[in-house]
Amino acid sequence: MASTDFGLHPFIDADGDKLREECGVFGVIGARDAAAVTALGLHALQHRGQEAAGITSFDGTEFFTRRGMGHVAENFSTGEAMAELPGEMAAGHVRYSTTGGSGLRNVQPLYADLASGGFAIAHNGNISNAMHLRADLVRKGAIFQSTSDTEVIIHLVATSRYPTMLDRFVDALRLVEGAYSLIVMTNDGMVACRDPLGIRPLVMGRIDEGDCKGATVFASETVALDIVGADFVREVEPGELIEVDFDGSVRSHRPFGTPASRPCIFEHVYFSRPDSISGGRSVYSVRKEIGAQLAIESPADADIVIPVPDSGVPAAIGYAQESGVPFELGIIRSHYVGRTFIQPSDGQRTTSVARKHNANRALVEGKRIVLIDDSIVRGTTSLKIVQMMREAGATEVHMRIASPPTMHSCFYGVDTPERSKLLAARMDVEAMREFIQADSLAFVSIDGLYRAVGEDGRKSKCPKYCDACFTGDYPTRLTDLSERETPQLPLLGEKAA
Ligand code: AMP
Repeated sequence: MASTDFGLHPFIDADGDKLREECGVFGVIGARDAAAVTALGLHALQHRGQEAAGITSFDGTEFFTRRGMGHVAENFSTGEAMAELPGEMAAGHVRYSTTGGSGLRNVQPLYADLASGGFAIAHNGNISNAMHLRADLVRKGAIFQSTSDTEVIIHLVATSRYPTMLDRFVDALRLVEGAYSLIVMTNDGMVACRDPLGIRPLVMGRIDEGDCKGATVFASETVALDIVGADFVREVEPGELIEVDFDGSVRSHRPFGTPASRPCIFEHVYFSRPDSISGGRSVYSVRKEIGAQLAIESPADADIVIPVPDSGVPAAIGYAQESGVPFELGIIRSHYVGRTFIQPSDGQRTTSVARKHNANRALVEGKRIVLIDDSIVRGTTSLKIVQMMREAGATEVHMRIASPPTMHSCFYGVDTPERSKLLAARMDVEAMREFIQADSLAFVSIDGLYRAVGEDGRKSKCPKYCDACFTGDYPTRLTDLSERETPQLPLLGEKAA
């Protein structure tokens, strides 16, 4: 376990591409028109990545891939698009990367023809020692096609000396640190696996009726099972590899033993859809409970509770129910503006916050309000929303946040800016209150957050979740961080410094 203090993001390559992204993965084997099922599944995972989408299918002989920038619907809605992807096995990916260069070469699934056959991979998470592994592979002659950390796995599989594909894959994963939920396709079938800490989610389902009866499905979240009519079977366990053949037989392997898992708690706070079940818990119920904890810990003398839509809604309902202060929609959100978070500059972020949210003046005027949002990252949203409430005539604005202060960057696949841009890394709560111009500001405590997910509180010796963004307690070694001062070998296409 490493606890590290740092200011720079270590995974930025010479293009300015960040080698990490938030993503969603989906795979199905044994289904007629597997690619169409996959496109549907990816629709339900669109919130996990809106920058690009891709699907690879296998028809028993050949692999086919189609990738594009933008939403799933923009790339996989036409008959012609789907006709390019025949077969009964397919895997897909939605990607969300941050500012800076990103192109089709990083869009997944990634595919390679290896000596042993085809190998397609879709990855959610982030390999925290990717730069280190990549430099080593390049030194040995590997030629990378992308700047994605996922490609490291392909090269490690390609160069492994084990005889079977599965052993090569396990051999590769033994070298990899960080977070990975993976769906892999080979000529023999599908393999789904989750890193030993189970940082990112992955669930398994089965379709029991209709055209796709008997198909096995893997997805980042249960909402994707719902949309394709699959029943939830179970979560892929942390450190588990599940192999599914074309005849439907399923084998489970545990090559990494059974270490204590550390799933990401931010999936519950923000990232997963509220109608998903994660770790056996309804994400919606957890968010409501976080709101209730907030109300217990940080009450406010106010007339109404207002969520920042959509991310603050369940917590605001919980806050209102616990406190008895009425819940009202004081901010109306336009659904035709993308996430403000991904706008490259603060200026663009600020104007898109304004386009996205509008005050419900008739309700807010003359009221003392409690505003609820899930998190403060840079503070852009909160500042804008507090100002908007004041302009609409709110007499007092009490901001309550349904997560502890975000003080550390994530290196496991959730997009967070570098530490220096995190408001909570630069200021204490009082300074943050002043910055966002609220009358009061409070965050749920880390113990309150753990109580909301059914624990007694956070046990600092063996925390149940990865909460590094709040605590700085990173659950894996961060090899690339400790080595970032070491000059890197020139990578493909880069000049030596
Ligand atoms: P900021 O305006 O930078 O403080 O961002 C806070 C807002 O971004 C909150 O309203 C969250 O709902 C949202 N948010 C928090 N974390 C993320 C993330 N990793 N990706 C996208 N949006 C996020």
